[in-house]
Amino acid sequence: MLVCKGDTHLTETIIHQSEIESPGSSVIRIVGLQKQFLAKLGFWAAIRGKKVVIRALDGVSLDIKTGEIFGLAGESGCGKTTVGRAMLRLIEPTSGSIYFKGQDITHLSDKGTRALRAKMQMVFQDPYESINPRMSVYEVIAEGVRINKKILGVDSEESIRQLVIKALELVQLSPPEQFISRYPHELSGGQRQRVAIARALVLQPDFIVADEPVSMLDVSIRAEVLNVMTDLRDKLGLSFLFITHDLALAKHTTDKLAIMYLGKIVEQGESGEVIDMPFHPYTQALIAAIPVPDPDGRKVEVFVGGEVPSAVNIPSGCRFHPRCPFAKEICSTTEPELRRIEGHHQVSCHFYEEAYAKFKIRSKKTYLP
Ligand code: SF4
Repeated sequence: MLVCKGDTHLTETIIHQSEIESPGSSVIRIVGLQKQFLAKLGFWAAIRGKKVVIRALDGVSLDIKTGEIFGLAGESGCGKTTVGRAMLRLIEPTSGSIYFKGQDITHLSDKGTRALRAKMQMVFQDPYESINPRMSVYEVIAEGVRINKKILGVDSEESIRQLVIKALELVQLSPPEQFISRYPHELSGGQRQRVAIARALVLQPDFIVADEPVSMLDVSIRAEVLNVMTDLRDKLGLSFLFITHDLALAKHTTDKLAIMYLGKIVEQGESGEVIDMPFHPYTQALIAAIPVPDPDGRKVEVFVGGEVPSAVNIPSGCRFHPRCPFAKEICSTTEPELRRIEGHHQVSCHFYEEAYAKFKIRSKKTYLP
């Protein structure tokens, strides 16, 4: 099948779950990852042996390269955080595989996982909750070093102090000596989040999961945290999984972007490709929802009906079909495969050409709010 982008013709290929993309440069790769949870039920339902399965992840495959910020976007509850937690082995996947620098870590023992943990860190959404308010900045950052002394080869308090100071410099909290004795309540939200990043960095990781790291911060200080992330990528070659629901931020911060809907990747590729040339109707709807600061500016309206269905009763065929304005009969019976359209750009939709053609026409019109 062919798609036209200007005068370029694009061929598509079906992507198989087990397909491996240049594994040499992968930091972390997940293949066909599934995670199911059992819902908590009432006493009588439990007595009757009733079980309700929540399909949080339904065959997710991602490949994050060295020195790459990989964005993962979608509505709340689509499974983004579950992907991040499964990658770090904070939760056990139901099936599928996880590879860290080429090593299969899916079924690593607790001891093996502990040794790996310093190399894979997480920065949480809320810096007001993730940092102990009774500990000074120095203690917050030094705590992880003390726990991982052997792995880091640290043997004295002076070397711990040097690592803490270096980490504070890397997140641009300088001069570090002014910050180490402060307590979290003496810092702004952006400074707290940078302390949280320093706490992860001090363990010299290769990969960091940043779970909505700026969504709790004022718009005015988001840029300072995002700049720290891009700086760390450029200077240290660090890789990030950047979980977000904000596509405008994703476009400017990430190198690649995957869009998730109800436990599945529906589109992924270079961030610019996905945002400037969205093939999937769901991606188009997310892009159309980005606020435009100019009321006379160009705005596309994409109508997506209803609510996100429950992960307990995932719709048959294409899981987006009950809300999709382009749905046809085949959409409710046959699940579309993830197809490579061009380069890294992949989409899972039977009618992506039609959806994109209509999106392009509408994006040429100007809609006033
Ligand atoms: Fe819509 Fe059908 Fe494409 Fe799913 S496969 S996104 S229902 S057009």
